Amino acid sequence: MKKITIAIDGHSSCGKSTMAKDLARELGYVYIDTGAMYRAVTLFSIQKGLFTEEGIDTETLRQKMGEITISFKFNPETGRPDTYLNGERVEDRIRTMEVSNKVSPIAALDFVREAMVAQQQEMGKGGGIVMDGRDIGTTVFPNAELKIFVTASAEVRAQRRYDELTAKGETCDFQEILLNVQERDRIDSTRAVSPLRQADDAIVLDNSNITIPEQKEWLLEQVKKIIG
Ligand code: C5P
Repeated sequence: MKKITIAIDGHSSCGKSTMAKDLARELGYVYIDTGAMYRAVTLFSIQKGLFTEEGIDTETLRQKMGEITISFKFNPETGRPDTYLNGERVEDRIRTMEVSNKVSPIAALDFVREAMVAQQQEMGKGGGIVMDGRDIGTTVFPNAELKIFVTASAEVRAQRRYDELTAKGETCDFQEILLNVQERDRIDSTRAVSPLRQADDAIVLDNSNITIPEQKEWLLEQVKKIIG
């Protein structure tokens, strides 16, 4: 059966990763979480002290981009790929509020995007992939056979993120998360390079009021329409 490329884009914290991961498993496709890659670059920048009082030390980051290797390794316990930065597992460290609060300005840097997009295109060149992010259907794979643009209200998204972090035992504040979700949407949608926007040929999915099984059924229907 033909293996297609599926691009899932949309706003922060609307469950794209869970959806993309489940769909990939169902179809026997490879799943790639591109947000994790921008998060790993952000963690690297924090570790190297590149966030200063004056802002991000972009020149040093530009010089150090060659020192960053991001990879994914399937974790059989969680059933999803873990993110590795220079050979070290960073899956939990890239999901903290500190990284969430710093990632969007890093992801807005043209040289960071260029490097990540090139890696993403390489990872997905054979098809049979589900990739989620902000610019997959517009920039990374503009010819993807199936493009989904996911959204939900900011409050619903913040609540989901709150529940996720609380379940992991992290102490967090709902208002801070809501502000983070809104601020990331603002930066992601207004940046100069590859802003978050719906591709003209993307199908919109507002998942504010649907359950995960309903969503899964809907997604499989969309795939079936293409691959038969
Ligand atoms: O998907 P996730 O919320 O983990 O992504 C973290 C951040 O990485 C986003 O808020 C966005 O700033 C950036 N990102 C991006 N392009 C992508 C994926 C993520 O700019 N393809």
